[in-house]
Amino acid sequence: MSYLIQGETGQWEVVIGLEVHAQVISNAKLFSGASTTFGADPNAQVAFLDCGMPGMLPVINAECIRQAVKTGLGLNAKINRRSVFDRKNYFYADLPLGYQISQFAHPIVGEGTIILDLKDGTSREVGIERLHLEIDAGKSLHDQHPTKSFIDLNRAGVALMEIVSKPDMRSPEEAGAYLKKLRAILRYLGTCDGNMEEGSMRADVNVSVRHPGEPLRTRCEIKNVNSVRFVMQAVEIEAMRHIEVYEAGGIIEQETRLFDSNKGETRPMRSKEFAHDYRYFPDPDLLPLEFSEEFVAEIQAGLPELPDAKKARFIGDYGLSPYDAGVLVAEKETAAYFEAAVEGHDAKAVANWVMGDLFAALNRTGKAITESPVAPENIGKLVDLIKDGTISGRIAKDVFEIMVETGGEPAKIVEEKGLKQVTDTGAIEKVVDEVIAANPEKAAEVKGGKEKLLGWFVGQAMKASQGKANPAILNEMIKKKLLG
Ligand code: MN
Repeated sequence: MSYLIQGETGQWEVVIGLEVHAQVISNAKLFSGASTTFGADPNAQVAFLDCGMPGMLPVINAECIRQAVKTGLGLNAKINRRSVFDRKNYFYADLPLGYQISQFAHPIVGEGTIILDLKDGTSREVGIERLHLEIDAGKSLHDQHPTKSFIDLNRAGVALMEIVSKPDMRSPEEAGAYLKKLRAILRYLGTCDGNMEEGSMRADVNVSVRHPGEPLRTRCEIKNVNSVRFVMQAVEIEAMRHIEVYEAGGIIEQETRLFDSNKGETRPMRSKEFAHDYRYFPDPDLLPLEFSEEFVAEIQAGLPELPDAKKARFIGDYGLSPYDAGVLVAEKETAAYFEAAVEGHDAKAVANWVMGDLFAALNRTGKAITESPVAPENIGKLVDLIKDGTISGRIAKDVFEIMVETGGEPAKIVEEKGLKQVTDTGAIEKVVDEVIAANPEKAAEVKGGKEKLLGWFVGQAMKASQGKANPAILNEMIKKKLLG
């Protein structure tokens, strides 16, 4: 599906690359023993190293290395068994070291790939350029005091993975799909919690435009976008800005911009004029990082089943469509719920209940699937009750609503509320006769050829049976009575 914007000078293609900073799940920071728990009091989790005390030496946290390698393997990427930590030098109030420890020329992970699952059921591959490890900076707080700024160093030194894509995306939808897929993979792996609202995943969005077939034009980087929706909006807005500038005869300067979601615009943050020269050099306090083939193999052996493999298995084992399988594996918890529900039941029907009524109910009640009032086994049981004719599909909707409210078991609800489908032809005939007798003019119209009214009779009779009449028998009976 190609996404092209029609301008006055022809069609424009949007070129997008993403740099994602993902906070590594680890109890301690990358080079100090300070805790990483979210929500602690300001400056409660700061080791001497993190606040730049002289003479402190970094000690690498092996767990963070394991997490980065695991992530690289999950991205089908090349693992570099030798990598180098560099100092990225700059002065900033919330960076007491005066440099960020990062990786520049020799990252821990090289090229890999991510497969995007698009809305139309197709998929597309996006290249990963690299993944490197680095430390986070602290946080300046400008809203705590009328005239002073405060600094919280709890984040300073926390391990981040910077995951850089190739400029392979061509639409806001693809950028959104990339971020969602990357987040899903990280969550499946347990290497980053992906909570964008807590800042544990942030995206820098690189955008340029060109006429199809042209070489790449100048890009702008939109910094620290913190939701999937904002990334998609930022891409759209920035692409339109480039097109307007080009079509007015202007040029785009390479610069870093900020996205203002309230105003729906991007604006310059710093331009080339203030371009940083970080003077990268290998950190003299840290030896190059080296690990063995066995270290990688051990991590590889412990990898969980990832979304792509799970999707293929759902298609193969359960006969689901690629679209349905893609939706169900998008979150690890949803996939687990589906697997617990489907065991021994009609998979397509279970998938429909999960993606339809259950998702709607969770949305409505603001609950996560792990807090679902409906136990997964009960979805399977509900599907069976429809299949064996105990209840109709329509009554099942009512039963489901009661399941959402009470957490009850479907067979019990059907029993208690007297919702069993009526398949007794005698009972159905009685209802049908009553409805026909009450509406002689309409019955005459049907007999006179106005067959459209048949549906009206079905509706009335179904209502009279309180929705419990078996629809097939009811239909048949009305046709027989009115058309002979
Ligand atoms: Mn970075």
